[in-house]
Amino acid sequence: MPLIDIVRTRTAQPLPPSAYAAQVSDIARSSLQGDVTTDVAIVGAGIMGCSTALALAEGGTNVMVLEANEPGWGASGRNGGQVNSGLKHVPEEVEKDHGAEAVRFSYDAPNRTRALIERLGIDCDYANGGGYRVATDAKLQAEVEDLIRQLERRNIPVQPRDAGQMRAAAGTDRYTGGLFDPAAGQLNPLKYVRGLAAAAEGAGAVIHSNTPVIQVEHGARWKLSTASGSVTADKVLFATNGYTDGLIPGLRRSLLPVFSTIVASKPLPEPLRAAILPGREVLYETGLVTYYYRVDADGRFLFGGRGPQSPIEGRMEPGRIAALAERIWPGLKAVGWDHYWNGRVCLTDDHYPHVHEFGETGLACVGLNGRGVAMTTALGPVLAARLRDGRQADLPLKATQIRRIPFQPFWPLGATIRLAVNDVLGR
Ligand SMILES: Cc1cc2nc3c(=O)[nH]c(=O)nc-3n(C[C@H](O)[C@H](O)[C@H](O)COP(=O)(O)OP(=O)(O)OC[C@H]3O[C@@H](n4cnc5c(N)ncnc54)[C@H](O)[C@@H]3O)c2cc1C
Repeated sequence: MPLIDIVRTRTAQPLPPSAYAAQVSDIARSSLQGDVTTDVAIVGAGIMGCSTALALAEGGTNVMVLEANEPGWGASGRNGGQVNSGLKHVPEEVEKDHGAEAVRFSYDAPNRTRALIERLGIDCDYANGGGYRVATDAKLQAEVEDLIRQLERRNIPVQPRDAGQMRAAAGTDRYTGGLFDPAAGQLNPLKYVRGLAAAAEGAGAVIHSNTPVIQVEHGARWKLSTASGSVTADKVLFATNGYTDGLIPGLRRSLLPVFSTIVASKPLPEPLRAAILPGREVLYETGLVTYYYRVDADGRFLFGGRGPQSPIEGRMEPGRIAALAERIWPGLKAVGWDHYWNGRVCLTDDHYPHVHEFGETGLACVGLNGRGVAMTTALGPVLAARLRDGRQADLPLKATQIRRIPFQPFWPLGATIRLAVNDVLGR
C-alpha cells in the first residue's frame, strides 16, 4: 500500500469564541477508537463534509466523517452567515471555464440551502431577506452593471439598485449602487452546521470529533489513520478547505488560507436597526478588499472584513474593524461591541472552488473563496452522487489537477503588506 503522506499528530481545539459559540452549549462528541471499515470516509465536518455525509446516508451508503475538532469548528461555524449565490467570476467567464451548468448551479445554491433547512427543520435563525452586492466606486459600479446584464440575459432574477436606494437600505452613502438578489438569505452558521451534522447522524452517518486524520494510504482501498484508530474505506472525500494540512501532497500549497475577521455589536437600538438592512438583508462589497455585514436574529450588527492574519484566539481587540464601522455609522459608537473573531477563508489562484480526483475513488473539494455557505450545501449531494455512482454522476465544476501556487508559504506576509499599503492609500 503506497504511503501518500503523514502529518504530525495534532491535538483537538475547542470552538473559538464568537457570537455563535456564545449561543450554543457543549455537545458530547466521540473520537474514533480502534480500526473500522466503511463505504465512504470524509475528512472534515464543515458544511461540505456534513452535507455530503447527509446525502450519502439518506441514500443508504455507510459513511463516516472524521473531524479534527468538532463539526463547525472551521470556517463553517464562524463565517458571516450570508447565504449568497454565484461564483467570483461573471457568468460569461464561468461558462467558458466550466460550462453553463456551473452558473445555474451557483445561482440556485441559496434556494437549495433554503429548501434543505426547511425540509430538515434546522433551527438556525434562517431568514430569506435577500442580499446586496454593492460597489464603492465608478469602476466597480460598471462591473456590477455588467453582471446585472449578464444575469438578466440568463433569466436569473436580480434587481439593480442606485446610490439613493442603497443609502436607504444600508444607512450610508458609501455605495454608488449595486444589485439585489432575492434568493440570498442569512443564518447562524454554527447552529446550521450542527443541524446538518445531527441530520446526517439521524440518517445513519457516523461523525467522530477530536479525530485528526494524520496519515492517508491509498491502495485497493483507502486507509485513514488517526492517533487512536483507523478507517478503511472504498471511497474518500477531503473536505478541509482553509484548514487543509499536509495529508495530500501539494494540496495545502494550492490554496491561500487568508483570515477574515468579524466584529459583532451589542443588539442595535431601534433607530439603527431601522437604518441598517432593516429587512435582514445581507450585504457584501465587491472589489479587492471587501467588507460584508448583516443584522442577526438578535439585532446584533455583524461586520466582517480585513483583520489580523493569524488566529485571534479570544482576544477582544476589534480596534481597526470596529473603528471603520463606527466611521461609516457613527451611531454604533454608543452601542459597543461584544464579540470579535476570525477564521480562514480559502482562496484559489483562479478564484474557483477546486474539485480534485484521486483515481476513481477519491475526491477533494476545497477553495470556496469566501462563498461557501450555499455552495458547500449544494455541492454535498452532487459529491455524494459522484462518490456513490462514479464518473457517470456529473459535477457542476470540472475536476482539475492540484496546482501549487508559487511562493504560497509567504502569502500571509504578502497579504499583510498589501493590507497595510491599502490602508496607507486610504482604500
Ligand atoms: C470569517 C469568515 C467569514 C465568512 N463569511 C462567509 C459568508 O458570509 N458567506 C459565505 O458563503 N461564506 C463565507 N465564508 C466562507 C465559508 O465559511 C466557507 O467557504 C465554508 O464554510 C467552507 O466549508 P467547508 O466545510 O468546506 O470547510 P470548513 O468549514 O473550514 O471545514 C473544514 C474542516 O476540516 C477539518 N480538518 C482539517 N484537517 C483535518 C484533518 N487532518 N483531519 C480531520 N479534520 C480535519 C477542520 O477541523 C475543519 O472543521 C466565510 C469564512 C470565514 C472564515
